[in-house]
Formats: sequence, C-alpha cells, structure tokens
Amino acid sequence: MFVLEERRETPVLGEYEVVVLGGGPAGIAAAAAAGRAGCATILVERYGFLGGAGTAAGVTNFCGLHANVHGEHRQVVHGMCDEILDRLQRLGGLAAPHGIFNDRIRAQAYDVSAYKIAADELLLGAEVKLLFHAMGVGVSKSQKSEIEALIVETKSGRGAILGKVFIDCSGDGDLAAWAGAPFELGDGKGNLLYPSTMYRIGGVDAERAGNAGDHIAALMDEAERKGKRFPRKKPIVRPQPNGAEWRANLTQIRNPDGSAVSGIDAEQLSFGEVEGRRQVRDTFEFIRASAPGFERAYIADIAPQIGIRETRRVRGAYLLTEDDVLDCADFPDTIGVNGWPVEAHVAGNVEFVFQRNPRGFNQLPYRMLLPAKVDNLLVAGRCASMTHGAQSAARVSGACFAMGQAAGRAAHLALKSGVSVRDVDVPSLQKLLEGDGAYLGRD
Ligand SMILES: Cc1cc2nc3c(=O)[nH]c(=O)nc-3n(C[C@H](O)[C@H](O)[C@H](O)COP(=O)(O)OP(=O)(O)OC[C@H]3O[C@@H](n4cnc5c(N)ncnc54)[C@H](O)[C@@H]3O)c2cc1C
Repeated sequence: MFVLEERRETPVLGEYEVVVLGGGPAGIAAAAAAGRAGCATILVERYGFLGGAGTAAGVTNFCGLHANVHGEHRQVVHGMCDEILDRLQRLGGLAAPHGIFNDRIRAQAYDVSAYKIAADELLLGAEVKLLFHAMGVGVSKSQKSEIEALIVETKSGRGAILGKVFIDCSGDGDLAAWAGAPFELGDGKGNLLYPSTMYRIGGVDAERAGNAGDHIAALMDEAERKGKRFPRKKPIVRPQPNGAEWRANLTQIRNPDGSAVSGIDAEQLSFGEVEGRRQVRDTFEFIRASAPGFERAYIADIAPQIGIRETRRVRGAYLLTEDDVLDCADFPDTIGVNGWPVEAHVAGNVEFVFQRNPRGFNQLPYRMLLPAKVDNLLVAGRCASMTHGAQSAARVSGACFAMGQAAGRAAHLALKSGVSVRDVDVPSLQKLLEGDGAYLGRD
C-alpha cells in the first residue's frame, strides 16, 4: 500500500566541492583530508557528534591501527589518525595499546567524550562545514551516472546539498545505494555479522579487578555448566583509560528467528535496541556478581545505538577478498593498509582467523573505493568494496581511517586535475598521501 505525497521543490542548503555522508573514522578522515587540501567540504551526520560506531555504538577502542609485523607490534595506519591520537592524548583520553590473544595483536582504548571533542577540533581546523542532526535520505542525479545533490531531512526541513564529488562514509552504503551502485549483503547465504549492544561499567575497583577481563570467559563457562545461558562466547570486558571504567562487548543481537538484526531494517533495529538493553542488564548482573572488583559497579552508559558491524558492501572496481587479508596481498594502487585479522561474529561466537603471512598486514587498493555505475562517488569505510570475509577484518577503525583519508585526497586530486575520481593519477595520489604522513605499506 502506498500514499501519494505532494510534489514539492526542495531548497538548496549549500553548494560544496566535496560532500561527505557520515562522521565515523572514514568520514572524519575523508572530510579532514579534502578540507585541508583546500576543497569546500561539508560533512553530514545524523547525530550531534562525530566518531560513528566509535562513539554512537560505544566501541571506545581502536583496532587495526597496529599490526603484528614479523612478531613486532607496529602502528601501521598513520596520517589523519595520528592527529586524532595526538588530540586524544592531550585530552587525557587515550590508553596505551594493549595486547590481546597473548599479545598476538594490539588495540588501543579511548575515552568516548574525548573522541567527540578531538574529532570536532580536527574538522573545524580543516575548515570543514559540519551539518549535524541531518539524516541523508536520497540523492538527485544530473545524469544517469552522476549525483547532483544529497537530499537531507533536518529539524529545519528537507534540503538538497549540491556537490561535485560525493563520499559515502555512512557505513551502510546509503548514498551509493540511492545513486544506483550495486552492493552485496551478507555472506551469500543470508548471514550478516551479528551486532552487539556495547556498554560501559563505572565504579570498578581497578586494583581488585586487576586482569579480571581475562577470566570472565572462564566464569561464563562455569556458569553455563550450571545452566546459565549467554548471548555469545568470547566476551571482551576491558578497562578504559580511567581504570574505574570498563567497556563490555559481550552481547549478540538476534531476531526471534536467530538471524542477525539488520542495520538497514527499522523494525529489526527497534527490536534489537530493546533486546540489546535486556542483554546488557543480564550480562552486567552476572559480571557484578561474579568478577572481583565489580561489586559496587554500575552501568555508566548503554551506547546510544546498537552496534552494527555489517550491512551493504558496495561493489567497486576491485573486491577485496578474505584471501587478500590472510595472504597480506599487495596492490599497485595501494592507498593504505589493514593489519586486523578476520573477526567473524557468527551465531553464538566470534571466530578469529589470523594472517597466514608473517608480514601481518595487507595493502588496500584505491579501486575498492570506486563504486560501479556512479562516476562522481567514492565509498570509504566498512561499506567499501570487500567480500563478507574481508570486511570481517578491514571494517575496523584503522583501515577505515586509511580509506577515508585516501578518498578525501582523491576527491581533491580529481577536482584539481579536472578528471573523474575513476581517472585520478594513482602515483600522484600515493605521493600526496605519503606526503600527508599516511603509510601505504610500500617499504
Ligand atoms: C559492537 C561493535 C564493536 C566493535 N569493536 C571495534 C573495536 O573494538 N575496534 C575497532 O576499531 N572497531 C570496532 N568495531 C568496528 C568499527 O567501529 C566500525 O566498523 C567502524 O567504526 C566503521 O567506520 P565507518 O566510518 O565506516 O562507519 P561508522 O563508524 O559506522 O560511521 C558511519 C556514520 O555515518 C552516519 N550515518 C549513517 N547513515 C547516515 C545517514 N543516512 N545520514 C546521516 N548520517 C548517517 C552514522 O551515524 C555514523 O556516524 C566494532 C563495531 C561494532 C558494531
């Protein structure tokens, strides 16, 4: 059933050279890179703050900035993310990198409020116009293969933002899908990575808690032997920069039929938010009752939204594969690297598969940012062109920062050279990125 809406004229809210949709790690780096290169740039974000899943879904931990390179931990994503790290450090909101899986790989926790402030400062410094509380809802096209404007809905009404190059950093490939770019969903058998509702626990006695996070899995196993049930195995419960606060990543949000809640289905998302909070309450009560140091703890925050790991993956000129990740593949058009292993959130569990090559990172080709069928569009972040298996690795923050920075620089280079983003001179792009401090994995 349908209703007919009245035909209307949509006011133009502004005209920019580069329009970025989404303010997660990919969008932050893309907009900062384009803005700093001198492009008139706008970033459109539905929430009132930046950070994407890192803040809105309570992730509070960078994965993929580091790789295990021949047994040595190295930070392998550089450039715009260094500036975020520096700002977080100055705000006192960054922990030292910590090892996981017996120090096989490292991650780095940050304070969620500090990240919001650091990202604001970075983008304002790059002269990027920020449009918050604006939901992207569609596009208008000037030609079959060219986007003219991003259509947004805001509290002050519906509007159009004209642009020359558009960068989809929505995580969900919203802009690419509206523009008609082809995309894939899930593993081909209908399975998406399962989402989680993240929460933070306050009032932890850090000294007594010690390395409690290493023992929670065993406590859960013991409770399961006595009949208790948990949403999934492999809990991650770890301290934040302030040891009185811990983050908890141990929920798994399924529909009543057992399938993963889809991040592009409003009914499922609504169900998932409530189910997520139910699991938060249940798992928190267990931790408080069983882990030392948590006796006086409380739930400091349930993330503003359910954490979605995977929705649309836009098909581009190259589809990064799981083998590329595991074999640490190189590409002539590298624009950055991914050092995170495959981390598949499957029903009831999290399955890690580590790189087969001791170098520990794969290069990311520029072609994975170039969607088919739309000429003035780049896609960066977790919705870039990757298979389900590759996305299970390169969706984490590190690779998203790298992709975003490359997309922003490529938009600038295309505009400056008067060519389509498809025809950007890749050696020039690589030189610019390395000049900006990015690491392309070429040494
Ligand atoms: C539960 C969970 C735990 C995770 N744990 C880790 C971890 O420990 N470390 C790590 O590095 N990564 C982790 N990840 C993965 C990582 O956080 C994300 O994959 C990464 O943030 C993706 O970056 P992105 O920029 O592509 O998209 P996102 O971070 O998803 O950002 C997309 C942004 O676009 C906005 N947006 C989307 N659609 C629209 C629209 N139509 N209009 C306006 N705005 C829109 C969103 O509000 C959001 O701000 C986790 C993810 C989840 C869900």
